[in-house]
Amino acid sequence: MFDSLQERLGSVFDKLKRRGALSEADVTAALREVRVALLEADVALPVVKDFVEKVKTDAVGQDVLKSVTPGQMVVKIVNDHLAEMLGSDHVALNLQVTPPAVIMMVGLQGSGKTTSTAKISKRLTEKDRKKVLMTSLDVQRPAAQQQLAILGAQIGVRTLNIVPGEQPVAIAKRAVQTGALEGFDVVMLDTAGRLAIDEQLMVEVASVRDAAKPAEILLVADAMTGQDAVTVADTFNQKVGLTGIVMTRMDGDARGGAALSMRAVTGCPIKLMGVGEKLEELEDFHPSRVASRILGMGDVVSLVEKAAESFDEEEAEKLAAKMKKGKFDLNDLASQLKQMQKMGGMSSLMNMLPGMNSAQMKKLKDAKVDDKIINRQLAIISSMTPQEREKPEIIKAKRRTRIAGGSGTSVQDVNKLLKQQQEAARMMKKVQKMGKKGMMRGGLQ
Ligand code: GDP
Repeated sequence: MFDSLQERLGSVFDKLKRRGALSEADVTAALREVRVALLEADVALPVVKDFVEKVKTDAVGQDVLKSVTPGQMVVKIVNDHLAEMLGSDHVALNLQVTPPAVIMMVGLQGSGKTTSTAKISKRLTEKDRKKVLMTSLDVQRPAAQQQLAILGAQIGVRTLNIVPGEQPVAIAKRAVQTGALEGFDVVMLDTAGRLAIDEQLMVEVASVRDAAKPAEILLVADAMTGQDAVTVADTFNQKVGLTGIVMTRMDGDARGGAALSMRAVTGCPIKLMGVGEKLEELEDFHPSRVASRILGMGDVVSLVEKAAESFDEEEAEKLAAKMKKGKFDLNDLASQLKQMQKMGGMSSLMNMLPGMNSAQMKKLKDAKVDDKIINRQLAIISSMTPQEREKPEIIKAKRRTRIAGGSGTSVQDVNKLLKQQQEAARMMKKVQKMGKKGMMRGGLQ
């Protein structure tokens, strides 16, 4: 899987590595090839266009970190955007409902639905210690219900007893009832598939959904079928609504495009992936890991991450040194805000500071960072004169109005920011005093 995409992108970045600086022309040329590589991997055209545009915006004008080459920098940017395109964070199955949690499996025939039903059940039973009941609603295909019963016996998971002639909605209801009465945590419903999407299939799936009220509706899609898998997902999502996708045959030699455009096209997270025929060959879908695998450049990515980390550490240490002197002006606040933006939270920065145990610090540490607020605060600071930034006490009413006007914010916003700086400055003084008493790392209890 992904091999040809890897090769293609690999040669693009090799070319870049031989160059000194990263110009717009370089980025454009590299991205032209990235575009072809993605299209060849069967990624949908609008997705590719959007992707290339985002990478370009990010790459041109990007500061190249010390100790990495511009080419490595672009690899990292492409990697991050690939991960974003795949959905950024792993999304786990939602079982946080009153038991039994119903998981409904939908998809075309042959996509790996029954196998995935058994794989998920096995994992929930063995790893998560859940009591699982499996049920096949496939009354079309002869022996489909027996097939699931055999798999159930293999993995030690109960299957609902088969009542000849019973129809899908009735079976689903009986499964949910049995699940509730007999204390099952999870009820897996393996719905029938067809060779292609048809209206009858959609109606059946929708009526099972209405009867069973599932916590999860998972589409099982075969990665080998490329763009077709994306079209199928899109249709199912529109007609019945999906909560997630299971990509099967990720172990095959498909070009990878289906996985890549799935999230972008449907907005649904890929939650799990099948990586073989065996019932334990199921993995969580981790966008960042899959992205590194696609690029095949995990080493470069971690190298750049380390460089970025040490850059952040240098900055944080500079700030910490200033703080130890008991000084904290608006320049410091600005640099702290930028750090927060990069790290997505106060925690890493706060870990560098003394006095971590104080309740105040903890409150700051737990504070959720909102990008919009940070951007607004940074805009306010950049509307100030250098003198104002160094000596915030000179910012009186008139200056506040001017700064609010210049940054497109309100005087209240400016007041709030100044108050924040005063708070921080006061805390720094306190930290400094404690430091003098020789309690620098011991906390402020
Ligand atoms: P269904 O018709 O959707 O229920 O499909 P099945 O579960 O019967 O699977 C069809 C075939 O695909 C079987 O031979 C499975 O062993 C195979 N299969 C399912 N998932 C995977 C996977 O992740 N990798 C590979 N290589 N084969 C798979």
